[in-house]
Amino acid sequence: MRGVPTNAIRDISPSDRVLDYTSRFRTFLDAEVAPLEQELHSADAGTPWNPRLDDKGRMHPLVWEARREVQRRSAKAGLYNPHIPAELGGGGFGRVEMQHVEEYVYHASGLGLGLAALAWTEGANPALTHVSDVARGRYLDPLMAGEVTTAFANTEREVGTDVLAMGTRARRDGSDWILDGTKAWITNAHFADFVQVVAVTEAGAGTRSLSMFLVDADAPGFHRGRDIPTMLNDGLTGELHLDGVRVPAENVVGEVGDGFALAMTWINWRRMCRGGMCAGWGTWLLERATERARTRESGGRPIGELQAVQHLLADMDADVFAARSASLVGQVELDELGPFDIPAHRDVPRLVSLIKVVNDEAFFRVADRAVQVHGGTGLLLGSAEEKLFRVARNLRIPAGTVEIQRNAIARGLLRP
Ligand SMILES: Cc1cc2nc3c(=O)[nH]c(=O)nc-3n(C[C@H](O)[C@H](O)[C@H](O)COP(=O)(O)OP(=O)(O)OC[C@H]3O[C@@H](n4cnc5c(N)ncnc54)[C@H](O)[C@@H]3O)c2cc1C
Repeated sequence: MRGVPTNAIRDISPSDRVLDYTSRFRTFLDAEVAPLEQELHSADAGTPWNPRLDDKGRMHPLVWEARREVQRRSAKAGLYNPHIPAELGGGGFGRVEMQHVEEYVYHASGLGLGLAALAWTEGANPALTHVSDVARGRYLDPLMAGEVTTAFANTEREVGTDVLAMGTRARRDGSDWILDGTKAWITNAHFADFVQVVAVTEAGAGTRSLSMFLVDADAPGFHRGRDIPTMLNDGLTGELHLDGVRVPAENVVGEVGDGFALAMTWINWRRMCRGGMCAGWGTWLLERATERARTRESGGRPIGELQAVQHLLADMDADVFAARSASLVGQVELDELGPFDIPAHRDVPRLVSLIKVVNDEAFFRVADRAVQVHGGTGLLLGSAEEKLFRVARNLRIPAGTVEIQRNAIARGLLRP
């Protein structure tokens, strides 16, 4: 039966190069990130996780610039792109290795500026490993050097989950393409230097109907739209308008018709990253809750002596342990299948969705219990618990809702 582990002993321990990465990352946090965090603290711009917003509702420029500086320094230190193949200049790490890296980065950084040091949705991603040689020099290399940032533009106002029903169109004009449409809910919409736009190139062709294009944010006809304020309140989400934007043939990612597979490559990458993110942040919240239980008193003794509070901590531990273990097992299997191959191996979608749904739901319970252990302090606006509770609620929707993950899991199980 599918999904039953083989007898092979699979190694889920961190490799030597992961240990080297995490030790260099620790030094980087202390030497390069801490001074920037201190500078930001003295400016009146908010914190990396609760930035002040400008008059358009966008992340305060000083917070954005501090993040950008961390990215540039991280790229220089060889820490920004461990997930990109070595032949393209990245670290060439597999998914098990990346889960350890992500866990370390989220645990060590908490909610600080250090999070920007590892490429997130604004940085290099596996879909971009399919760019043409010309586009590699113009887009991927500067992106990996931290000189520019990008965004992934798939969703529209009317179409989220039902991606094949999107309205953005690309039509040929000689060897160029002309793009028209509006994208919504796009992370980094306000700041991206270029955007990975997914558009219909052959209506009615099902999973071959879409293509992915690299579009310069200063191209004629490209406009940044309104801010879309969400409960994350980070001023990073917005709309993008494409009004007859001309794009050269070399800016098509992969082949014409690969857009759905490339979009899934990007989305699956974000889904797999949940394993390390939730393990890192979950452990951080558990440590903070444990410390709180040791020091906060009720009735003259630490609340940690109360069984009610002990059970909250134990349930947090159980969720982090189970989600982390399940994810590592999933990542091992994905490393064997080739997680970003196009076309994807038939067993990939179920495994990726298992990682996402297990982590999204476990981390939501962990964040909820972390607030509970802290009492009123956990509800304080700007506290780590309050912010991560909002993040945890958010995680169950972007990169595919938890319902859609269940659809993919069931499809994998019921496949003839
Ligand atoms: C903070 C944030 C950042 C985002 N960043 C990006 C980004 O960078 N790039 C990008 O392209 N998009 C981005 N998104 C969009 C995100 O991916 C979509 O919101 C998500 O895929 C869900 O789509 P929707 O909002 O249209 O919900 P809908 O598709 O309208 O779904 C509504 C409800 O119906 C359910 N549902 C819908 N269809 C089905 C089905 N077939 N089976 C079962 N249940 C179903 C859903 O699970 C959900 O509960 C972001 C969203 C947020 C909130």
